[in-house]
Amino acid sequence: MSDAYDETYDEAHEDSRIDDGGDALTGHGASAGQDNERTFAALPPAHGRGFAETWWGQAWLKALEDTALDLQQLKAGRRLARAGHVGAVSVRPGRITAVVQDKDRTPHRSDVLLQELSDDEWDRFLGMAVERAGHIAALLDREMPPHLVEDAAAAGVELLPGIGDLEPECDCDAWDHCGHTAALCYQVARLLDQDPFVLLLMRGRGERELLDELQVRSVAQQSAPDSSQGEAPEAAQEGVDAAEAYADGAVLPPLPEPPVLPAEPGLPPSLDTEVEPAPGVDVPARSSWRPGRRSRRTGCWPKRSPLGTTSSPPSRG
Ligand SMILES: [Zn+2]
Repeated sequence: MSDAYDETYDEAHEDSRIDDGGDALTGHGASAGQDNERTFAALPPAHGRGFAETWWGQAWLKALEDTALDLQQLKAGRRLARAGHVGAVSVRPGRITAVVQDKDRTPHRSDVLLQELSDDEWDRFLGMAVERAGHIAALLDREMPPHLVEDAAAAGVELLPGIGDLEPECDCDAWDHCGHTAALCYQVARLLDQDPFVLLLMRGRGERELLDELQVRSVAQQSAPDSSQGEAPEAAQEGVDAAEAYADGAVLPPLPEPPVLPAEPGLPPSLDTEVEPAPGVDVPARSSWRPGRRSRRTGCWPKRSPLGTTSSPPSRG
């Protein structure tokens, strides 16, 4: 799958190549594993457009805006990003990189660093995710439900950056966020809107790697009850494949409308034959069926039985 991105990257990179800063992105695919870098083509100018429409994209920008000390730099960054001055964006574990051009087209290599999750944190995140198939289905649908972030936080894993977590590095030698790193963050907010896996890659794991690991854990979890079943076989519930359950929602017809309610409640049926009959009920007809009294049926049956007349043997006398 990284091949597809590579092609996108190569085509886009040819179009938006910046001579002086082009080498900023040549590390692409060289040292990292094939799943560990994604490169997104430069976006065309988009004047007057917002940068984050999703709640997680907005949370990302809040981390930037809470961190940056100079609001003028944020403003400059928005201007550069809107004008299409941010080149192809490379996303790797712990780092995003792009060449950002000033208004006079001077290129600057800009990086923003975000701490990767530790192996222990990934272990806890995956343990949580494998229990909640809906979270993964949502991610595959390029959505990041708030519950996913909350459940991760409950497991001690912060997915979204907070204040001070987006660390700038720029060759313009600014000591805080400059217009270039701010522009890069604004651009990445747009990428996050489209695909929350971008955030997970920054945190250290690519989409393929994550899904493979979840599958391994899911299989291990399904086979585990067989060995540890003990005395409660009913505890081993039969699972439903998440993708299947998710797909069913799109395939099955909607539920029928509930039946219309009567205008007023009626009387419930009574199964007790010993109560006083309601007015208008044929009492003799009912009472002939009561136990202890000879019913019409038991009284008539012997006489009507064909066995009594046709099956008796002929007289021998
Ligand atoms: Zn800079």
